[in-house]
Amino acid sequence: MTLTDEPCFARVLAVLAGERFSFDESASKVMYFMLRDDRGCDAVISARGFEINFGWSYGPHHYVLSTAPPIVSWLLDAAGARGAREVRVAIGPTDLPSVKPCFSWRAPALHVAMVAGLDQVSIRVRDSVAALADPLPAPAPAPHAPGLVEATQPCRHCGQVPDSYRVLRDRSFVCLACGRSQPALP
Ligand SMILES: [Zn+2]
Repeated sequence: MTLTDEPCFARVLAVLAGERFSFDESASKVMYFMLRDDRGCDAVISARGFEINFGWSYGPHHYVLSTAPPIVSWLLDAAGARGAREVRVAIGPTDLPSVKPCFSWRAPALHVAMVAGLDQVSIRVRDSVAALADPLPAPAPAPHAPGLVEATQPCRHCGQVPDSYRVLRDRSFVCLACGRSQPALP
């Protein structure tokens, strides 16, 4: 079962039609996450929720949908847009007002693209216009995530190059040829 919040998403569509919602504390926080860092983000707003992948923390991270109408309001006002389904705006460095208990803060220079469909609104935040063309790259897997890594170096115990090493959480490597472990390889 998918939980949806059609009334809240209808408020987002109302913003696109010209209505405006002002920031509360929660919307201010989510906006801060979206605009605080020039590594940018990809956000998707729909009746199913508000999902964001950040350039500094790939997700998806989920936020309450009620934070979306104020954020879309602010972006459309910043763009001077009304009624457009595709909006691009260069912002900042921009001072954002404080909404207690959030402090006021300054967004770096950013480029924002918003595309509104009937059932979802997607937003990209980037440090350049050119970067707006592509989605954020998915993060590379952590180099020492538990699991198997292809072996390129001989085991210190048996001298063989096994097919792969098993990487443990403490970053030690278990040789699949002889079963003995060794500290992380260089
Ligand atoms: Zn070995």
